[in-house]
Amino acid sequence: MMGELNPFEIAQRQLDEAAAVLGLDPGIHALLREPMRELHVTLPVRMDDGSVQVFKGFRVQYNDARGPVKGGLRFHPDETIDTIRALAAWMTWKTAVVDIPLGGGKGGVVCNPKEMSQGELERLSRAYIRQVGRILGPDRDVPAPDVYTNPQIMAWMMDEFSAMQGHGEPGVITGKPLALGGSAGRMDATARGGMYCLREAAKVLGMDLKGATTAIQGYGNAGYYAQLLGEELLGLQVVCVSDSRGAIHCEDGLECEEVKAQKDKSGTCVGLADTETISNEELLELDVDVLIPAALENVITAENADRIKAKIVVELANGPTTPEADKILHEKGVYVIPDFLCNAGGVVVSYFEGVQNAYNYYWDLEEVHDKLDKKMTAAFHVVHETAQAKGVHKRLAAYLVAVARVAEAVKLRGWV
Ligand code: NAD
Repeated sequence: MMGELNPFEIAQRQLDEAAAVLGLDPGIHALLREPMRELHVTLPVRMDDGSVQVFKGFRVQYNDARGPVKGGLRFHPDETIDTIRALAAWMTWKTAVVDIPLGGGKGGVVCNPKEMSQGELERLSRAYIRQVGRILGPDRDVPAPDVYTNPQIMAWMMDEFSAMQGHGEPGVITGKPLALGGSAGRMDATARGGMYCLREAAKVLGMDLKGATTAIQGYGNAGYYAQLLGEELLGLQVVCVSDSRGAIHCEDGLECEEVKAQKDKSGTCVGLADTETISNEELLELDVDVLIPAALENVITAENADRIKAKIVVELANGPTTPEADKILHEKGVYVIPDFLCNAGGVVVSYFEGVQNAYNYYWDLEEVHDKLDKKMTAAFHVVHETAQAKGVHKRLAAYLVAVARVAEAVKLRGWV
């Protein structure tokens, strides 16, 4: 069913389900089904060979009732406006569920950064800001890195925006390098936020996480830090991890630094000594206590949901579980920590970066961790209690919390 819909139709369908349970005012529902503002731009860029290539770019400001828009910028050859619209809607719910005073947005450029030189990428980044900068700013819309964009690209964009304003404006963008006003603790923030949620889920389930067997799908930023922090903060025993080439399994547990060294050396964790290689599909169905999808969307489906044995699913990836699978997992009693709650640690620390930029005063790592913990823990419990009170699965509960908050802001402003 997911395959027949484009991502924005899926996002609208999820909102419709929450609106029905909330009995949402039809005017507010209609407003929240659409982005409030979109800018489509055409970007001429001088390439290294002297030719000019013309790129398409977008910025979607989905809803800013709760505060300035926040959301990443993607550089991807298959980018479409409907993907950006869906991601902008999800950012609106993500900032609302963790209760930070921001709206939701997303942007992108249709390009293939793997085929571009650093100089070409810099000129494209600056061209994007020259066009889209007119709707950005710390009080309007603050982008951040996303697929195939990184701190260096954020640095060029911040510099171009500052040049347009005639003064430094670090708060126009987050995910900057530390030397240009980035925040301590941004690197592992997504996984850390997910581990705080897992800790709270174990508390409500009365489950001891010390030695809890764990499988992690994907070993990039989210997956690697999930193993590192899961062991350090919670005492998890990670027995299986994977990447696009396959999964490695060892009943006695995998050493995080050994896996990382293997992946850095050969580009994949597959082949690590004393491990058995299994498939990514088999990883999902292992008899473990905790399953952490941290790679792709739509991996837990109506086809395999019944065979998931984990007690808790920690969704660090965006969209790993289909709506049909959600219902099956709920009926089986699997505790799913839904993506836009579970992986919100990154945007929370991005928000902290903006606050520090506004004050021009920077917090130490301990302060960032402490504030992130408070935000994630509070958000987890509001969603958990809503799920209990309404008898719904956790994703729908997260939607109910987020949509109600955005709807309240819309109503108080008198928009509807
Ligand atoms: P990344 O690019 O650093 O890592 C992705 C990992 O997934 C890599 O190890 C890759 O080998 C693996 N992978 C790719 N195809 C796979 C396949 N078919 N099967 C198994 N593994 C596969 O990406 P990331 O930043 O870690 O993001 C991972 C997920 O987490 C995405 O869904 C992303 O949207 C989500 N997320 C990340 C952040 C963040 O701050 N990094 C924030 C929110 C959400």
